[in-house]
Amino acid sequence: MEIIDTHAHLEEVEDLKEAIRRAVKVGVTAIIAVGSDYESNLWVMHESWKYGTSRLRIYPALGLHPCGLNVSRIDETISLIEKNLDNIVALGEVGLDYWYGDARKSDSVRGVQRDVFRRILNLARMSDKPVSIHSRGAWMDCVDMAIEAGVKRAIFHWFSGPLEALKKILDYGYYVSATPAAAYSKEHRKILVRTPLENIVLETDSPVVYAGEAAEPAHIIKALKAVAELKGESMETVAEKTTENARKIFKFG
Ligand SMILES: [Zn+2]
Repeated sequence: MEIIDTHAHLEEVEDLKEAIRRAVKVGVTAIIAVGSDYESNLWVMHESWKYGTSRLRIYPALGLHPCGLNVSRIDETISLIEKNLDNIVALGEVGLDYWYGDARKSDSVRGVQRDVFRRILNLARMSDKPVSIHSRGAWMDCVDMAIEAGVKRAIFHWFSGPLEALKKILDYGYYVSATPAAAYSKEHRKILVRTPLENIVLETDSPVVYAGEAAEPAHIIKALKAVAELKGESMETVAEKTTENARKIFKFG
């Protein structure tokens, strides 16, 4: 089996070298290392590849996460991303989160998030790169903005939004990613049941904590198993299909 973890925050994973070894054992052959801010983007660019092996490659993605945006560093971060477009396979993690902190109540905080998201979507369109999108509490806005920006390949990461937003995602040929939460989250499962395998990829969002356990890329097996059960397919079939999807999205051989 060959599996691709399409979204992980590797700089935050404890004892990453060992974690990568365990990932290889379960069949992970590639990981997309996503950045969240200026510092993590630097790590993704300069350090992440060092943890790759002959059996598992690490691919860089640069982004600016909507949660806890440091307003004073927005321009600097976006220009770092812009300068490195040729060296990355995707933009991310980016998006909107209307449930985070002040964004719950403040229109201006949401406005800042949308401004950042729009700028990065434009970079994605210009460079023809896919985007890994965080959309909590802002599902429809995220989908609409990706469409408006003319982005061709988008993954709505860990998608758990309303079905109207899913319909648009599928109409535009975009993707959703399944995380280990697919084993227990009602909202996430509802989405995966209604999304064809052709539009699903897998990820761990490591080191997010699921059901009391911090994720690492080897836990992609939990996402794989849950999707296989929801779809009534074998794990091999789901691995093959989702890996093929990921290769198509990130354009690697
Ligand atoms: Zn993430």
